[in-house]
Parts: sequence; C-alpha cells; structure tokens
Amino acid sequence: MNQAPAGPPAYRGRFAPSPTGALHAGSLVAALASWLDARAHGGIWLVRIEDLDPPREVAGAAREIVETLAAFGMESDAPIVNQGRRGALYEAALARLQALGLAYGCACSRRDIEELAAQSGLPAGVYPGTCRAGTRGRPARALRVRVPAQVIAFDDRACGRYAQQLEREVGDFVVRRADGLWAYQLAVIVDDAEQGITDVVRGADLIDNTPRQIWLQRALGLPTPRYLHVPVVTNAAGEKLSKQTGAVALDRADALGELERAWVHLGFERIGADSRAAFFARAIELWRARWGMPSTIVPATN
Ligand code: GLU
Repeated sequence: MNQAPAGPPAYRGRFAPSPTGALHAGSLVAALASWLDARAHGGIWLVRIEDLDPPREVAGAAREIVETLAAFGMESDAPIVNQGRRGALYEAALARLQALGLAYGCACSRRDIEELAAQSGLPAGVYPGTCRAGTRGRPARALRVRVPAQVIAFDDRACGRYAQQLEREVGDFVVRRADGLWAYQLAVIVDDAEQGITDVVRGADLIDNTPRQIWLQRALGLPTPRYLHVPVVTNAAGEKLSKQTGAVALDRADALGELERAWVHLGFERIGADSRAAFFARAIELWRARWGMPSTIVPATN
C-alpha cells in the first residue's frame, strides 16, 4: 500500500537573478548563500531567470550569469526556468485575485501618485487607494491589489521577526504594470509555489517585499516558504551593489578568491581552502552548524 511520506516537504531552494547585467559580487553572495543552504540541508537548488522586464534586460546577461555560476561550481539541479515564458501562470493567478475581488484597475500616473501621497501624508511610494472605488472615467493603466489594514509578520531565519502593516506601509501594490508587464511580487510567489520552493534565501534588500508576498500567498491559498535574508553588498557610497552602482563582473579565473570574499561577507571567517572542493566541503559544514535544519525553523506565522 502506498503511504504519503511523513514529515515536512524535502528542501527546495532557488536563486532568482534578474538578467540586467553580469553576475557581480553582490549577486554572488545571494547565489552562494542559497546554494549552501540547499546543500547543507541535502536539498534541491534551482536557478530561475527573472526576465520579466525586457526593457531593463541586457542581451546575453542570463547566459553569462548561468555560465559564471557553473564556473564557480553552482549548477541548477533542474532545467532553468525563465519567467518571461510563464505569463500563463501569472494570468491564472491574476484571474483568481480578480475573482476574489482583490484586484482593480488604477488610472493614476506616477506623478498623480507622488502628489496624492504628499497630500495624504503617507510615506513616498505608498499608494493611498485612490482608484479602489473606480477610476472615475479615466482609463485604467496598471492593476493593483487591495491590501488589508492588517499586520503581516514572519520570522526570518537570520533577521528575526519582521512585521509590516500593509495598507499603511506599502499600500495597494501593482501586480500588472501599465505597460502590460508582470510585476515581480506576483511572479515570484506564483513561481515559488509552482516550483515547490520550501526555503527562500536572498538579499536583505528584499525583506520589506516579503510581507506583501506572504499576504499574496495566503490570498491565493499557496504555502509560505521559510525565509532567510542575507546581508547585501554595498559600494563605498553605501548603495546596494548593482550594475548601475558600479559593480564589476566577477573574475572567473579567480573563482576561489571570489567565493572566499562572498563567504566572508556572509559573516564567516575566511576558510583559506586550496581548492574549490575543499572550500565547499568546509563551507557546507560551517553553514549547517550555523543555520540548522529546516525542521528546527519556525515557519511564517501571523
Ligand atoms: N531578482 C531579484 C534580484 O536579482 C531576486 C528576487 C528574489 O530572490 O525573490 O535581486
């Protein structure tokens, strides 16, 4: 007789780079952390290309990222998926949000939103819900979701409890942009669920997106993974490292040196290994000692 396996689902993690430039020191930290967490837990590690925004995409960047990861010893355990080809999944999720009465068309331009926020005393970027009751004859541009005046909290494995009152701190957010492109918030939760991701390990610059994602998961009846947000790499001016803030491509000829630097950024002491295999073996051991097994981690709660 077939019996369902006992216990929590087996670990599945992912690295989800945007193909807006070559892999750099900052993205390597996120890649290494997610890879080590998967390996430390005997899990699966997937690469997903977040090519949702063709105007910001750099030709050849996705291939470059995947090749650099491979040169550094990190390869996806299953075929790589591209968000750019998954519109039907996002469309289905949007249809569910619409059926639940949670999505609405918004006619406001960027300028309208800045003015409205200034008038209503809300923090910059928080949409005050102007079009919730309709666009008053103006053509709808983006599609937004109606967030509740509710605190969404979760326990990050590294940063501890993180809470946000969505309506006041975020506002109704965009799920499909005015130019018709899918918003990251929707695509990421659809794909994390569709790929059975149990553990999200990514840069701490995204922690303030997480309550929105957890709320969307709950609205759509999708499971919430565990989250671990790792320190982001900044430049001398304190800005998150990106192509726009001066990140340079990684040196593939010095994979071990680059990996050691990413490792130190993750808060560990330099390993000083003489081979990549020795580096990974020791790093997996030390990572496991620090970050434990998923079964010991408390899942997201409200
Ligand atoms: N594409 C995002 C980035 O490159 C990562 C998104 C995620 O891990 O959820 O920063």
